[in-house]
Amino acid sequence: MQIYKIKSNSTQTNPVRVLVIYTGGTLGMVWDNQSNGLVPFDFAQIPDNLPEIKRLNFEVNVLTFKDLLDSSNMKPEHWIRMAKVIKENYNQYDSFVILHGTDTMAYTASALSYLLENLNKPVILTGAQLPIGVARTDAKENFITALEIAAAQQNHHPIVPEVCIYFNSLLLRGNRARKHESVQFNAFESENYPVLAEAGVNIEYNFPYIRHYKSHPLPLEVHENVDENVVILKLFPGISASVIESIFSIEGLRGIVLETYGAGNAPTDAWFLEAVKKAIDKGIIFFNVSQCNGGKVTQGRYQTSQYLQEIGVVSGNDITAEAAITKLMFALGQRTDNEKVKKILKTPIVGEMS
Ligand code: ASP
Repeated sequence: MQIYKIKSNSTQTNPVRVLVIYTGGTLGMVWDNQSNGLVPFDFAQIPDNLPEIKRLNFEVNVLTFKDLLDSSNMKPEHWIRMAKVIKENYNQYDSFVILHGTDTMAYTASALSYLLENLNKPVILTGAQLPIGVARTDAKENFITALEIAAAQQNHHPIVPEVCIYFNSLLLRGNRARKHESVQFNAFESENYPVLAEAGVNIEYNFPYIRHYKSHPLPLEVHENVDENVVILKLFPGISASVIESIFSIEGLRGIVLETYGAGNAPTDAWFLEAVKKAIDKGIIFFNVSQCNGGKVTQGRYQTSQYLQEIGVVSGNDITAEAAITKLMFALGQRTDNEKVKKILKTPIVGEMS
């Protein structure tokens, strides 16, 4: 990893210190004539395009991934790498900003919220819809405001000591956010949890919804195991028995996020319910998440979800699919028995579900 130091404007003897972790994404991309597409590029061009960064009155250092990624190539090993970088630098820095592609940012934010146990400092992910070298880019505002939020303190304590996504004026809890827009600048939403801050002329914090800073925190613990033997299965009218059976019989499969309709409903065809029951008996864990962005799963409300409840499908309540699949990977990675995994899934651990 390479480190860049950005000269700050601070006159303080002990300025706030922010570490930026640059992983890639559109924010730093340039056009590549060979592949005829956008590709991630060296961090060095970013400060050239962003002279404002030198005007901040806190210290900013940047660590860059060697292999810069379009976030579609992001994998659990990269989440763990980011978590370890945060752990290694936790005592030297007051907060962290992660520059990341938007495509899988919500997955990374969710995963980090579980992997960084006892986090008590801000970790703000941001990126852009247009590269920083483009005249109408959104990268500058996103990056500068994410830095300001990361550095923001009240009574010498960070205001937002949790994993968040900052994008297009909104600060969202990371494990509640979803990418819902690929063309307009408002790429992220958080349908089931209030916005944590809104940046206009001032940055207005929504204090009641922000995790509280702990004066006597437990030491940061980084989890390094996630289990990738999982799948997201989105139901659709007409899904066939052969599709279901082939998914349920994948060798080594341990967990399924079942994206159901509405309040957690699924077909009541005997072949479907029998297949789910057989898979559960084999030890596969089912986590029921709604295809709707807003609202929640209420198993048992309709007859079409009663059997799921009876046979032990775990309700995902109002969790997003991104937060659910990463939670399932994290919980299975704890190498514990299925009952404990289910208990982890049911319990809100870092504000990912109500
Ligand atoms: N494909 C890009 C990525 O996720 C999109 C972006 O950054 O906005 O890395």
